[in-house]
Amino acid sequence: MRPFHYSRPGSVGEAVRALGADPGAEVIAGGTDLVTLLRDGVRAPSQLVDVNRLGLDRLSWQPNGSVHIGAMCRNAVDDSRLRRAYPGLVQALRSGASPQIRNRASFGGNLLQRTRCAYFRLPEFDCNKRNPGSGCAALNGDGAQTALFGASPSCVAVHPSDCAVALVALNAVVHVEGPAGARRIPIEEFHVLPGETPQRETALRRDELVVAIELPPAPPSHYLKFRDRTSFAFALVSAAVAVEVSGGTVRSARIALGGVAAKPWRCLAAERELVGKPFTAPSIAKAGDAATEGAKPRPGNEYKVELVRRVVRRALTELGNA
Ligand SMILES: Cc1cc2nc3c(=O)[nH]c(=O)nc-3n(C[C@H](O)[C@H](O)[C@H](O)COP(=O)(O)OP(=O)(O)OC[C@H]3O[C@@H](n4cnc5c(N)ncnc54)[C@H](O)[C@@H]3O)c2cc1C
Repeated sequence: MRPFHYSRPGSVGEAVRALGADPGAEVIAGGTDLVTLLRDGVRAPSQLVDVNRLGLDRLSWQPNGSVHIGAMCRNAVDDSRLRRAYPGLVQALRSGASPQIRNRASFGGNLLQRTRCAYFRLPEFDCNKRNPGSGCAALNGDGAQTALFGASPSCVAVHPSDCAVALVALNAVVHVEGPAGARRIPIEEFHVLPGETPQRETALRRDELVVAIELPPAPPSHYLKFRDRTSFAFALVSAAVAVEVSGGTVRSARIALGGVAAKPWRCLAAERELVGKPFTAPSIAKAGDAATEGAKPRPGNEYKVELVRRVVRRALTELGNA
């Protein structure tokens, strides 16, 4: 681990100024991801800007029924209204990591955690994300964990967050603050595909801070995660679904997948198979098929295509039975 400066600002403004003043500075929140990367020599910031004392650790319910979740709220958040309004989000959070890690991990850090691609995490391998222009060892390596959608010749890694997948199904908005002031980024635009610049993973600028995540009122939701073992494992494929049904007909549907792309992958084709139809097994089966549209399997990850179909079907069926 390389030596670094440490600062602990007392306000969002001070934190933004600290990031702006040092191009090598990085935010530290719970540290559950970043400290591992420092230890393993994957990241070497000149300064860590600690955001634990900025008052960003609150849930704030709005008069219109939406909620603002402070970026420093922990992944172990336990709020009965949140459970009732956004069950899919709470299921996603509880499926992640372990109770100890969830007690420490923050919402902001969860969205910004780095990929679990082994070739990124091990500095002895070439990785365009860690070291732009060096190549992608994963292209000729073990493909089992790689992306089905939106990959590029530069990068085939997937995003690891469970929470972000649920947030896409729930149509969240990320609130950020930077030197130019505050802005709001729809969650679907927050994470970006690798293209030729896989080192750039989000729309967040280097000197900006995530301050909150806004969730509008949402229809019933559900999260289903398929993984190698039932705890302490990242998603091979997961699905978050949010479906509004009235009079037996689907009025709106949002479906997002995890474990299959560099960002939570929204399944518009699957949503179209549901809207305006009865919420029954035949339309759910068609939605599962449509969720695989555009998949480009690579050697080793072909199994994910069938998994996507089944996880989407099962998530929708479980939501319908809830
Ligand atoms: C063993 C293990 C198992 C895990 N399993 C899962 C899992 O199954 N599912 C899952 O989703 N996650 C899993 N995780 C990841 C875990 O959820 C993340 O490490 C955690 O959410 C990161 O939050 P943090 O506050 O600790 O972030 P940190 O480690 O402090 O930071 C992570 C990144 O976010 C940036 N950052 C943090 N906060 C902000 C902010 N407010 N504004 C701008 N940038 C910010 C930091 O600069 C850093 O780049 C696992 C982690 C471990 C160690």
